[in-house]
Amino acid sequence: MHRIVLLGPPGAGKGTQAKRLATELGIAHLSTGDMLRAAAAQGTSLGREADGYMRRGLLVPDALVLSILRERLASPDAQRGFVLDGYPRTVAQAHSLAEITPVEHVLYFEIPESVLVERLSQRRSCPVDGSVYNLVTQPPRVPGRCDRDGTPLIQRPDDTEEAVRTRLAVYREVTVPLLDLYRTQGLLRTVAAGGSVEEVAARVREALR
Ligand code: ADP
Ligand code: AMP
Repeated sequence: MHRIVLLGPPGAGKGTQAKRLATELGIAHLSTGDMLRAAAAQGTSLGREADGYMRRGLLVPDALVLSILRERLASPDAQRGFVLDGYPRTVAQAHSLAEITPVEHVLYFEIPESVLVERLSQRRSCPVDGSVYNLVTQPPRVPGRCDRDGTPLIQRPDDTEEAVRTRLAVYREVTVPLLDLYRTQGLLRTVAAGGSVEEVAARVREALR
């Protein structure tokens, strides 16, 4: 069974690769960012609480994220395996995850910060189905519209310059220490995340062999 974690800074391409990989392997794509955004859009109390943290680029408190992830991991489509995108982000979260399920592969998406800032400033997404575009590298077929359902694309409120700065600082401070944890456990593989979506996808496949 494939139980895969994608680690890396915001904008590294985790979501883009996770969607492809999940389709290719017939496993679930579990993005805690997507789950939290969906909860915020539905206006649930968890979603409203999470939204304030997300907009500022801060991490949502562990207990909230864990409750939403736990539920999703228990759902039928996750029983054949999963690619986890955006969780864990702290050492404490890695310990929580280990109590719920083992993982076989941790892929670390390595990429220079200058590329991240460029990618995030050009990212647009569909508020209905969550599909992700890039004005420069992955433009939609019709400008400003989702390829799948024609919905007007939006810029995520946390892709502003200020929120991106905060997210990168949070990543360096609390997520980078996770690399050592998984390296020590012998699970970490590094994937060079620059280059085209196809090139990165090929490296991901190679890292999973
Ligand atoms: P993450 O989930 O790690 O935050 P995304 O998958 O949302 O990153 O990608 C961030 C932005 O970069 C999006 O606009 C996406 O379309 C674009 N992108 C993703 N992978 C690549 C790539 N290999 N080359 C160029 N642009 C990419
Ligand atoms: P992402 O879609 O992965 O870029 O996540 C967007 C935002 O959701 C993050 O900046 C956090 O505010 C929140 N978030 C997603 N995953 C987690 C997590 N594992 N722990 C805490 N906050 C998270």
